Amino acid sequence: AAPPEPQAVETAVNAAYEKYRTLHEGKNADYIPALAQVDPELYGIALVTVDGKVYTAGDIRSEVSIQSISKVFTMAKVIEESGPQAIFNNPGVDATGQVFNSIVAIEQYKGAEMNAMVNPGAITATSMVGGTNYDEIWGRILDYYGEFAGRKLAVLEDVYQSEAATNQRNQAIGRLMYAYGRIKDNPDRATDIYTRQCAVGVNARDLATMAATLANGGRNPLTGRQVLKPDYVPEVLAVMATAGLYDDSGKWLYLTGLPAKSGVGGGILAVSPGKFGIAVISPPLDAAGNSVRAQKAIADISNALDGNPYAVK
Ligand code: GLU
Repeated sequence: AAPPEPQAVETAVNAAYEKYRTLHEGKNADYIPALAQVDPELYGIALVTVDGKVYTAGDIRSEVSIQSISKVFTMAKVIEESGPQAIFNNPGVDATGQVFNSIVAIEQYKGAEMNAMVNPGAITATSMVGGTNYDEIWGRILDYYGEFAGRKLAVLEDVYQSEAATNQRNQAIGRLMYAYGRIKDNPDRATDIYTRQCAVGVNARDLATMAATLANGGRNPLTGRQVLKPDYVPEVLAVMATAGLYDDSGKWLYLTGLPAKSGVGGGILAVSPGKFGIAVISPPLDAAGNSVRAQKAIADISNALDGNPYAVK
């Protein structure tokens, strides 16, 4: 694999930006009250190649909350600290066939046989990050995200407050995973740290850099820092491919072949291994919870640049 030619990337990024600028399908998430307030017109595209070139279109300065995209990087942190077997054992690496915050998914295998991209598995992964107290664990998570993004990130406090006040379902999920012994201790602490990680503010360029770090064998192509061991990258990408776009993960993989992750804040990032990372932010979501414009723009751009890792040319 080699990074795509600059002229081809510029053409593809600009074409997708223009093509979907006037598309107004979907609706902001509103089960977290603060997300309903985000400007639905916000629209930005960024692509970062493994050799560190950055291409952008639209609004790449405005931040949205990272939401479920954070799940990838907390899982990566657990793998980096404890090895891939830790995540394989708990919470598992299989699709649940249920929505991301399903209680049924917990009950069907007593908290096992799931993955770190759905809420029970993600809260479990957060509970597995090393550290002796809340601040230490949280600091490690936030710093790790910053290593992927290539800059220090911060929480959007209003989003955190809004979700913390309304996340009774996630609190129940954390406690149920504790009851099944999948979370070892402090389930409420794990859920709260998880809620905070979901509220980290990111722009399209941050997300694309995070994806590009995964595309580049775990080395951030902008800072040159090795963030995740190269050996561990395939495991992270495998879980993204399995469960990155909620119940439409299969459709997404079929159309693009790209390991990806979406969040209800309106971001999606995707990884073309050995080539590039790409991200789009646009808050309105489809029925499955994935950004409408982000899916279309990423699929167009990646397919124009031969980004599908299964398509050998
Ligand atoms: N913080 C959100 C939740 O736990 C994340 C959901 C998402 O982006 O899928 O409900």
